[in-house]
Amino acid sequence: MAAEVLASGGARVTVFDAMPSAGRKFLMAGRGGLNLTHSEPLADFLPRYREAMPHLRSAVEAFPPDKLRDWSAALGQPTFVGSSGRVFPKTFKASPLLRAWLRRLDAAGVQFAFRHRWTGWDDQGRLQFQTPDAARAVASKVTVLALGGASWPRLGSDGAWVDCLAAKGIAVSKLRPANSGFTVSWSDVFRDRFEGQPLKGVALTVGTHTVRGEAMITRAGIEGGAIYALSAELREAVLGIGQATLTIALRPDLTTEVLATRLSGTRGKQSLANFLRKAAQLSPVGIGLMQETAIASGRQLAVFSPVELAHLVNAIPVQLTGVAPLDRAISTAGGIAFDELDENFMLRKLPGVFAAGEMLDWEAPTGGYLLQASFATGAAAGRGVLHWLAPSRS
Ligand SMILES: Cc1cc2nc3c(=O)[nH]c(=O)nc-3n(C[C@H](O)[C@H](O)[C@H](O)COP(=O)(O)OP(=O)(O)OC[C@H]3O[C@@H](n4cnc5c(N)ncnc54)[C@H](O)[C@@H]3O)c2cc1C
Repeated sequence: MAAEVLASGGARVTVFDAMPSAGRKFLMAGRGGLNLTHSEPLADFLPRYREAMPHLRSAVEAFPPDKLRDWSAALGQPTFVGSSGRVFPKTFKASPLLRAWLRRLDAAGVQFAFRHRWTGWDDQGRLQFQTPDAARAVASKVTVLALGGASWPRLGSDGAWVDCLAAKGIAVSKLRPANSGFTVSWSDVFRDRFEGQPLKGVALTVGTHTVRGEAMITRAGIEGGAIYALSAELREAVLGIGQATLTIALRPDLTTEVLATRLSGTRGKQSLANFLRKAAQLSPVGIGLMQETAIASGRQLAVFSPVELAHLVNAIPVQLTGVAPLDRAISTAGGIAFDELDENFMLRKLPGVFAAGEMLDWEAPTGGYLLQASFATGAAAGRGVLHWLAPSRS
């Protein structure tokens, strides 16, 4: 995005990328339908960036979700708003959009140099690259770093840039998993039976934060959209005190009283699981979770009174014991501290070097906020470069 802004401003641009082709992570995002952005009003949208909101506000306001949608449509990929308010290309794919974009960049004169891994600066201030053939040094008037975070390193972003910038005295807050799963010590019986099963329409709570949505039982623990939305709070608790308690409400729209009434009916010859399934419309995996909790407290679910069952349905405690590794996370928290950047996304300590995208110190839930901020900061860095170059051009 920075390259596009720069080329349209008349600059000569080369994009160097470690990988053999462009946009590998963007293409991976396309596997999930490419959730480009979100349709909610900016007043709701911006707070998704949490502490980083003040630093991202001007970039997102200058390149907001509507502009991103127009940009996609101009590349032949009109978008639509899904039922959750998320915005997707109508094709649900990233590849046609990326192809059209690369064609347009090519037409604008942007050069690409693949298999060029940036490793820092040499003593003459030139960019140093490792290539399959040899090391290469490139002198550039201005540099925009957009090297991503450190999740899914096989797609190109491995966070190795942290050391290059730290060597220049740039403060980088530790890269941590965001939108990641968590580990849970499931019983063997529960894990074998319910791995891969979704918990739908649940409400998840940690501390004062509650999120509704879906979660997925994994072999090692739990992941999914609602977990990702709480991942910052959960991660800080798990990393800080070694564990966090997630409370799951299976039927958040039903009060304890309503549930207790439903669960007071006669069970007859039905198994407890069948009774719970019919009386409270609980899924087998939900009932399995209730059973896990009962066993952990040394009791059998069968001896629970209707009121106890009703309480448990909407307050199942799950102990999270660890964070899934960064390389499996959807995105990365941490990165270049905003104090290191001026209002044009230029590194104050390295005049002429700009930075954008996930390598900056922000995080956001899934929902299109990640790509939106990456695009918006890329565009802002591009404008910043044009502004920086302007005096020397006139
Ligand atoms: C499975 C998955 C699904 C996702 N789905 C969505 C979604 O639907 N919606 C959404 O908003 N977000 C989604 N994301 C997140 C989104 O893809 C990222 O936030 C976004 O791609 C970040 O953009 P970026 O340009 O900052 O970094 P990246 O896209 O990671 O690009 C960084 C580039 O820098 C290159 N690079 C890194 N280090 C070097 C180096 N030393 N030298 C040279 N080149 C280097 C890499 O090869 C890469 O091409 C998803 C992520 C994953 C992993």
